[in-house]
Amino acid sequence: MNVNESEELIACHECDALFKKRALPEHSSANCPRCGALLYRSIPRNLDRICATTLAALITFVIAQAFPIVELDANGITSQTTLIGAIVALWSEQMEIVAVLVFCATILFPLCELVALLYVLMPVRAGYVPPGFHLTLRAIQFVRPWGMIEVFMLGVLVTLVKMLSVARVIPEAALFAFGALTLMVAVVVSFDPRSLWDIAAQLPKRRARRPVATSVRQKS
Ligand SMILES: [Zn+2]
Repeated sequence: MNVNESEELIACHECDALFKKRALPEHSSANCPRCGALLYRSIPRNLDRICATTLAALITFVIAQAFPIVELDANGITSQTTLIGAIVALWSEQMEIVAVLVFCATILFPLCELVALLYVLMPVRAGYVPPGFHLTLRAIQFVRPWGMIEVFMLGVLVTLVKMLSVARVIPEAALFAFGALTLMVAVVVSFDPRSLWDIAAQLPKRRARRPVATSVRQKS
């Protein structure tokens, strides 16, 4: 077996069966014939859509954190809070562990994933591999299961419905931003960062095929 052949192999994550990796038609995936687990998806030809969605998600994330989520009006006493404000309130109520968990699951990990994804997507889309490429992809795979914006959104909605009987609930900008963010994160999470590895592996070949842009002009 030569080096090129060994590079084309892929192991099933569930049953360790080894297969030869072949190019797939667009929007298709390869499954293990033994256990049915997903082996890999086809390489997306165009990264524009996922780049735009990730950037939009990052901007929406900033809006969701900067503005209040809801305003509560009970007997003329109004109060509103941002997500950070709610975490600070949890901390001051001696619920430090819950505060740290909420901070990590709704702010730190989703932010890390979006920033890291943009850090690798933008350069790969432009045609080069950024420094720390492999480490960043591994970091994305690590933080992805811990981002729980959709769980938070569900919790907020259930709480708001229950609060309706005791106070007037006025939705604020961040509530809509979190709603939009939940949908965008669902699109971002559907993108498999492992396909960037395949795209990055093809980059030197693609570059070699392109004509050299810089040329030396001869003085006449
Ligand atoms: Zn398998």
